[in-house]
Amino acid sequence: MTFEPQLILIYFAPIFLAFIAWEWLSLRKQAGSAPATAQYSLADTASNITLALLHEVGDGLAAFVTLSIYYWLFDFRLFDIPNTLWAFALLFVLQDFCYYWFHRASHRIRWMWASHVVHHSSQTLNFSTAFRQSLTYPISGMWVFWIPLVMLGFEPMTVIAVVLFNLAYQFFIHTQLSPKFEFLGKVLNTPSHHKVHHSRNAEYIDMNYAGTLIIWDKLFGTFIAEKDDIVCDFGITRQVVSHNPIYLTFHEWKDMFRDAFSGQKSVSKRLKHFWAPPEWQPEPAASSKTGYNSTEPNVH
Ligand SMILES: [Zn+2]
Ligand SMILES: [Zn+2]
Repeated sequence: MTFEPQLILIYFAPIFLAFIAWEWLSLRKQAGSAPATAQYSLADTASNITLALLHEVGDGLAAFVTLSIYYWLFDFRLFDIPNTLWAFALLFVLQDFCYYWFHRASHRIRWMWASHVVHHSSQTLNFSTAFRQSLTYPISGMWVFWIPLVMLGFEPMTVIAVVLFNLAYQFFIHTQLSPKFEFLGKVLNTPSHHKVHHSRNAEYIDMNYAGTLIIWDKLFGTFIAEKDDIVCDFGITRQVVSHNPIYLTFHEWKDMFRDAFSGQKSVSKRLKHFWAPPEWQPEPAASSKTGYNSTEPNVH
């Protein structure tokens, strides 16, 4: 069997499933002492696994187009970078830097949030939450963030491999059953740092965007360490009460287009619904309409 870089997450699948089984068994043994928000439910886990499969299908379908664009741009590369271990290490750091900006943009530009919201809409956090991904990332433009790497001269398939290794690493930070890893957490993204990222508590919202290295958050002012006196409340500002993978994938797209095309407003304001932060509304009166500033759940 030859190694296919685009199948890296599939190769990792048995390890991911083993960790999920271990966590599920550990939670059953710990019974009352484990946080309720870490517990597995059939509906949440089944929806996370379905979303992972849909995400793979989406990426598979988009791969032909994105790889064609990457290889076309690769012809205009700035440098001829040799295939060495040092070049791979450099690529890993640069890709992680790009990932930070991809992730930050995914929270602050509604067009991108429409995809990324899927990952955040569970009120539970365990290893299976890492599977909760969107099929629409290629439409939101995730692939655009790796173009600088290709333009620098990194071979497109190697770039894809590093992106997927980064995502594979991030599987392991979706748990509430790990130690705090205080020392490693000075440089690396840890379960504690990522737990903060999944919380909707006012102090934690839109913090800790890191992929593998937490240093980017520290450099760009978005880092916050987990505080022992704050109980994490997982999910999004306006909670989604649904386990339907299709609804979870498309609800924010639907709301975004509805906001853009409804009411009386200028073209620039209509367009702003796509590029402004997700909570943006033209005037305060309209904000309660979409419920971003409301605590009422979005029931489906
Ligand atoms: Zn996020
Ligand atoms: Zn996550």
